[in-house]
Amino acid sequence: MVCKVGKDSFGNDYIENFKQNDISTEFTYQTKDAATGTASIIVNKEGQNIIVIVAGANLLLNTEDLREAANAISSAKVMICQLEVTPAISLEALTMAHSSGVKTLFNPAPATADLDPRFYTLSDVFCCNETEAEILTSLAVSSPADAGKAALVLLERGCRVVIITLGAAGCVLLSQAEPVPKYIPTEKVKAVDTTGAGDSFVGALAFYLAYYPNLSLEEMLKRSNFIAAVSVQAAGTQSSYPYKKDLPLDLF
Ligand code: ADP
Repeated sequence: MVCKVGKDSFGNDYIENFKQNDISTEFTYQTKDAATGTASIIVNKEGQNIIVIVAGANLLLNTEDLREAANAISSAKVMICQLEVTPAISLEALTMAHSSGVKTLFNPAPATADLDPRFYTLSDVFCCNETEAEILTSLAVSSPADAGKAALVLLERGCRVVIITLGAAGCVLLSQAEPVPKYIPTEKVKAVDTTGAGDSFVGALAFYLAYYPNLSLEEMLKRSNFIAAVSVQAAGTQSSYPYKKDLPLDLF
């Protein structure tokens, strides 16, 4: 985890939370120059959300911080990057990982239409949701068939694998190796709060890429769908993510 938080109570809570979850805090930098980033989340009775993000200290993560983490990045199995830090820093981190042969998983969240084209060529796996796919391709995405078309546009920009998540409908996979869209449905569950489902999915996928690299991508996505479906059945974001010990053994 390479990130920056404020020298405030939210920042202290984050560090404590990482420690409790066995996440290294070696590269969790604390700054006096900004408050810890926060997100105000409103969830309706269908479990859908609206999120207001105040990026705060996230935007102060800089090149020097990445350099300090260079050895950890180049020896990782998988590197996840997204856009809640400045795009230039995310790009630099992806470049560091890619040039060391580390598998890269990029989640363009929050998406902007003018995404730097290097994000595509540096992504082994490019994983976005319907809204992000729409912003990036200017195509309407509301079905697996639409997602297949958008995935093709994204694949042609240079990523090796494109995954578009479709909420309760699961996800679509398209790869350079097999350029025919595959639809992978998910469990039918009662969603209480879908906030963080995408992050839960991306985290699960990174886990499989790192520790079960011989599984087919389709199988990894079936399992990631399952884990994300567990997360929507409880309130909260991180607090709704299952621990490995609470998941069915056949996922491992
Ligand atoms: P984001 O949180 O980025 O908007 P999605 O809503 O597409 O992402 O959800 C990511 C993944 O979480 C989906 O591909 C699916 O596996 C799972 N998921 C999301 N919503 C539901 C739901 N209502 N029922 C079951 N699974 C869900």
